[in-house]
Amino acid sequence: MSLFDSMVKYGMPLIPKPIVGRVARRYVAGETMDDAVRTLRTINDEGAMGTVDVLGEEVKERGKAAAAVEQYLALLERIQSEGLDANVSIKPTMLGLKIDEALCAANVETIVADAARRGTFVRIDMEDHTCTDATLRLYRRLVRDIGHVGVVLQAYLHRTVDDINALLPLGPNIRLCKGIYREPRTIAWQAYETVRANFIYANDKLLEGGAYVGIATHDSHLVWAAMATIDRLGLEPGEYEFQMLYGVDEELRRIILDRGHRLRVYVPFGRDWYPYSLRRLRENPTVAHHVSRAMLGLRPR
Ligand SMILES: Cc1cc2nc3c(=O)[nH]c(=O)nc-3n(C[C@H](O)[C@H](O)[C@H](O)COP(=O)(O)OP(=O)(O)OC[C@H]3O[C@@H](n4cnc5c(N)ncnc54)[C@H](O)[C@@H]3O)c2cc1C
Repeated sequence: MSLFDSMVKYGMPLIPKPIVGRVARRYVAGETMDDAVRTLRTINDEGAMGTVDVLGEEVKERGKAAAAVEQYLALLERIQSEGLDANVSIKPTMLGLKIDEALCAANVETIVADAARRGTFVRIDMEDHTCTDATLRLYRRLVRDIGHVGVVLQAYLHRTVDDINALLPLGPNIRLCKGIYREPRTIAWQAYETVRANFIYANDKLLEGGAYVGIATHDSHLVWAAMATIDRLGLEPGEYEFQMLYGVDEELRRIILDRGHRLRVYVPFGRDWYPYSLRRLRENPTVAHHVSRAMLGLRPR
């Protein structure tokens, strides 16, 4: 990565918000539920499934957490009434985890119970390491009491293999991803190749152990490794799925679908797009190019 690329990547919070907004537009369906529904319909028409995220995190007021619950209930209703092939993804800190764990648990339970009534599913996203224990506690309780719920494990965390060992007896539904938050060396593998190797190890362990896995990556080496394991184990398409983020590598999406695998696209929408967009831009290998074009007033490509 050039010095300029690194400056853009790590100096991103200093870049004016409207510029970030212009470049990051591709990662977000829009600000309204109608925007999300339109995007989901296109994704379903392509043969992929969706998971919808109402943007928002790190909520500090009970009222805002309650409003997020209402948004999710409206979203679940809309997905069903529109006949869309989609479920929802939620963030515990949007639902009050940083206020009070019990409040968050009650909020998440309301959403999962509604999803269960409608025969759909809720994925609990995984945030930074300060949330891991509470999120896994929440997941265990909901699997036991309701079902229709899955969680996320991050291949960069040292603890992930232990978490898999502990969760496998539950027959878990796990989205496996590399992990996006900046975590210290004491708790997370830092080297790119180590995270990749741990992703492959964790994914194999989950699939061999009978878990349903949402294999969430745009790294074609990891997609290949997962396809090899799926073949070796003789798994049917209904026993796992691939997952990708909206706005990232549509060609790879097509490649996976054309090989006969199921694939789900993560579709975020809402007004609180800034933190999510910053994280996506930091991961874009050509971010410097896009940011400089936007700063010159040119259209992002
Ligand atoms: C469906 C889904 C849900 C996720 N949920 C979570 C979660 O709950 N918690 C969490 O910590 N993380 C989550 N992530 C993010 C994940 O942890 C990684 O940070 C992210 O997927 C990038 O890792 P990668 O495996 O795609 O590999 P990378 O090595 O980052 O990317 C591989 C290639 O994909 C392309 N690419 C990747 N990102 C971009 C981008 N933004 N713009 C353009 N091209 C790009 C590039 O060509 C890159 O070389 C999720 C990811 C997905 C796909």
